[in-house]
Amino acid sequence: LCGDAGTAPEDEGGTSGNPYAGLVSRLRAAWLSGRTRPLEYRLAQLEALGRFLEEQKKDILEALALDMRKPPFEAEFSEVLLCKNELNESLNNLSRWMKDEQVDKNLATQLDVAFIRRDPYGVVLVIAPCNYPIYLLLVPLIGAIAAGNCVIVKPSEITKNSERLAVEALPRYLDKDCFAVVTAGVQETTRLLENKFDYIFFTGSSSVGRIVMTAAAKHLTPVTLELGGKNPCYVSDNCDVKNVARRVAWGRFFNAGQTCIAPNYILCSVEMQNKLVPALREAITMFYGPNPQESPDFARIMGDKQFRRVRALLKSGRVAIGGQTDEKERYIAPTVLVDVQPSDPAMQEEIFGPILLIITVANMEEAIDFINSHERPLVVYAFSSDDKVVNQVLERTSSGSFCGNDTLMHVTLTSLPFGGIGSSGLGNYHGRFTFDSFTHRRGCLQRGTGLEPINVLRYPPYSPHKTGLV
Ligand code: NAD
Repeated sequence: LCGDAGTAPEDEGGTSGNPYAGLVSRLRAAWLSGRTRPLEYRLAQLEALGRFLEEQKKDILEALALDMRKPPFEAEFSEVLLCKNELNESLNNLSRWMKDEQVDKNLATQLDVAFIRRDPYGVVLVIAPCNYPIYLLLVPLIGAIAAGNCVIVKPSEITKNSERLAVEALPRYLDKDCFAVVTAGVQETTRLLENKFDYIFFTGSSSVGRIVMTAAAKHLTPVTLELGGKNPCYVSDNCDVKNVARRVAWGRFFNAGQTCIAPNYILCSVEMQNKLVPALREAITMFYGPNPQESPDFARIMGDKQFRRVRALLKSGRVAIGGQTDEKERYIAPTVLVDVQPSDPAMQEEIFGPILLIITVANMEEAIDFINSHERPLVVYAFSSDDKVVNQVLERTSSGSFCGNDTLMHVTLTSLPFGGIGSSGLGNYHGRFTFDSFTHRRGCLQRGTGLEPINVLRYPPYSPHKTGLV
């Protein structure tokens, strides 16, 4: 736990005796002091986060290698570079984002000032998952700081080395009165969630998202829920098979498939499946060589329990490529399963490992029906050389995001809102949207003190004469 627990807590929301109540009330006192509000303060904390990313980069890559053998390129791209993008976006735009927004007025308020103030929520909690343990901890933190909040961040307890780095190094860069890192497993997080927060930003599985939302509801705390799901990928007959195979394989096997927006299953015709399987085999060999276990560019599953869950999914359908496992290393080969039935376990849960399913459909209509008969995913992918086909899939499906003719790349744009819909999540972030997520839009009207004779028109006693005037 970073930061001492502070003075004995007030019984805020009935949490006296709660091990985190002191910490929360200490952060609340700091927030109420107004310390985190000025632009200069926010910029200074964000710049300190930039120094953390620079100075700790080697340790970050090392921690990620120990946690899941994350390949250095993947770690640098997805955990450091994307954080820096987000940070630069905030540093460059914050003064503009923070400005009051003047709004339209009616006749009665023509001489007054009406504006939207971007107010911080107060004390916010960020809970991060295990798959991108630095990126998914820091990006919400960047937004919460930019918006002027005090923040508690809780990294995943699964990725121990990244968790240790966060709790030991981050506090050296940030104002300890306003920002804290809490290390907590399930039991401790349950206690943490008993406290009243002003906003909760959760990234993780849909099942835990429900638990977090239930805890938040007790205090009517607003939430962002960045959850999981099964992302479909429609591949039409009209496409460059080799290109598609490379782009899909990259998205599926990046970070050994432990990516919330990875394509989970391909929907295509039998003819396309016959072409795709050899093309995927070629792409996998090109990426990882003849034995991916020996490749420095292929990650491992991050925990034993997670490894066993993913391995069990290999029983669905028939292995067309890969299928090898090594429990000691938590290695699962890049795998493609065909003849998968919608009722198979691999189609019933999020895969979250290096397994790609292929389900054959007669045509695009059937693919769209299939997608729409399942929970709404984080992202829908569609591949075709014909833009009309891609647009049809976009038009007739619903998902958090959409990406045509590639995978994952939409996440690199801070100009796009990123988030789920339905069971894949609630709210969105990245760039300006992260700032907005941690900001309360406070509608403000500041009236002049004069012109009272006009106000008399709306005061009782009412009369038909006054009503006519209004
Ligand atoms: P998880 O839901 O098991 O854990 C996420 C966080 O919640 C961790 O910090 C964990 O300590 C905490 N937690 C776990 N059980 C809890 C409980 N009962 N009460 C309170 N807190 C609890 O998820 P994970 O395995 O770390 O990550 C994988 C999941 O996250 C996948 O479903 C993936 O799709 C999803 N994910 C979503 C996004 C997104 O942006 N939408 C990004 C990354 C991961």
